[in-house]
Amino acid sequence: MDEGARPASAKTEGRSAAFSCPGEVEPEACPSGNMALVIPIFILHEGCPHRCLFCNQHSISGQPAPVASGAEIETTIRAWLAQTRQARRARVEVAFYGGSFTCLPLARQDELLAAVRPFRQQGMVHHIRLSTRPDAIDDQRLDLLARHQVSIVELGAQSCDDEVLRRSGRGHDAAAIVAAARLIRERDMRLGLQLMLGLPGENSRILRHTAGEVIRLRPDFVRIYPALVLRGSGLARLHCQGDYQPLSLGRAVAWAAYLKKRFDCEGIRVVRMGLQASAALTRDLVAGPHHPAFGELVLARMMLAQTRRLLAGVPAGKRCALVIAAQDQSIFRGPKSANLNRLRQLGLLDRFILRTDPAQPRQTLRLVPENTVAGDGGGDMGKQTSSRPVGWPDCIDQHHDFDRATVADNSANSQPCLASTT
Ligand code: SF4
Repeated sequence: MDEGARPASAKTEGRSAAFSCPGEVEPEACPSGNMALVIPIFILHEGCPHRCLFCNQHSISGQPAPVASGAEIETTIRAWLAQTRQARRARVEVAFYGGSFTCLPLARQDELLAAVRPFRQQGMVHHIRLSTRPDAIDDQRLDLLARHQVSIVELGAQSCDDEVLRRSGRGHDAAAIVAAARLIRERDMRLGLQLMLGLPGENSRILRHTAGEVIRLRPDFVRIYPALVLRGSGLARLHCQGDYQPLSLGRAVAWAAYLKKRFDCEGIRVVRMGLQASAALTRDLVAGPHHPAFGELVLARMMLAQTRRLLAGVPAGKRCALVIAAQDQSIFRGPKSANLNRLRQLGLLDRFILRTDPAQPRQTLRLVPENTVAGDGGGDMGKQTSSRPVGWPDCIDQHHDFDRATVADNSANSQPCLASTT
């Protein structure tokens, strides 16, 4: 379903860009290959008593937060289902996002979830997902979620370092993340974790620690966002005072690539990297490593690292074929052909011919001797018996170069501080 076809009640434009606990709700493919239909229900900042440094929901929500009644939720779900093709109804999720769901009073949680229940019972909705804070998870709340068959709970973890959490004003420590994850797991609910890169006090050592802790928690999926300075947030105030500097785009991409590699190696899915572009985000962004294709930048960086590693084994003067999935051509080239330019600088560009193969897994490369390649035009290769498939083998984190940016820092991303004008 495209944006224009969405029921008006589900549109986000014009609302706060606030970086709330729940990130974007990402559609996932169901076994039939169709994307899941995600029906979003916004509970924008309703009831959240906290003041996280990076969040601007309290200060800029000039318009009152929309309050969804049970009847409105029912109407929204019906409207989405009515406008959706049968094939996409194979997996339907209702997602509550925009606030910390379990911070709401229990009666309010009950009201919201009860509105979805009939659809769940009739098999028209297959999953209910919501996001919340780690310290707003306990047995009583999980009992309620279980009663309403909530199947996916996403925690805004942000970091697993106590000092970073403290300086970010989260109001909980890393132990709260571990405890909440364990309770969610005990209920057989799927666990998602949201991480934020570049919060005050974070460095590459702390990032490694966070990666290790997340791996220990074995979430079903992870989302990775760079910390952005949003108008009206505590970070914007610090930034104006010169007390906080966001990550550069290049550094943020490098850090996200590090996390993705670690999680890929452990079979933990990364379902989103970077915030979705929106008019509200453009309006509220003061500074920080936002890029509308942040995830692609990360994948391009990883592809370049893998390409260099493979080509390092090809002697100068020899040429081989590099095989990629057809859909990966743009991440192979990199943003504005940055990867190709870098390979040229390194003298590696003439050591390979690029081929595509529909059987090659996405985001992987394999190297084959050039003389095993049928044709010479970059078309599909078909089967290669002598091929050497390569995944993402460099899981050894000390080999990760956190600092070298393959993506040019986008200084235009750093706008004059607007916070004082609000
Ligand atoms: S918990 Fe923090 S980030 Fe989440 S909505 Fe409340 S203030 Fe914003």
